[in-house]
Amino acid sequence: VSSGKKRRNVQCPHCDGPIEVGGMTISTVCPSCMKTARVEDLKVDTYWAGSEFYTAGSVTVEPRAVLVAKVRATRMDVDGEVKGPIHLREGIHIGKKGRVVGDVRATSLKIDEGAVLIGRVEITPPAPQGPPAEPRRKKSR
Ligand SMILES: [Zn+2]
Repeated sequence: VSSGKKRRNVQCPHCDGPIEVGGMTISTVCPSCMKTARVEDLKVDTYWAGSEFYTAGSVTVEPRAVLVAKVRATRMDVDGEVKGPIHLREGIHIGKKGRVVGDVRATSLKIDEGAVLIGRVEITPPAPQGPPAEPRRKKSR
């Protein structure tokens, strides 16, 4: 019944704190900031507008879909339209029908011919995967 065997570590999309989740978990409460953190890969295939579109997974914006929000995620694939600042832990790909209006922060950027990107772009290499600076010890059962 329960499939909590496969654990994985993700980072909280709100505070970057580490979260350990099961393989099937789609959202959880971050132990660092106590906010609800989505950890699933999200797909936008229609119109979605809101203040925050945060996940520790990836975001795919389908052709003709529109996403209007502040986005934080691991990776992003845009074939529709996105309005809002985008902050990614990894790379972004904007397909030939994709359109992004807003500032983008990511570790890599791939744009197909025909894509639109209007905004400030900051591409920096991924942060080193070292242990976090603060040596907070957590008891693991
Ligand atoms: Zn957090």
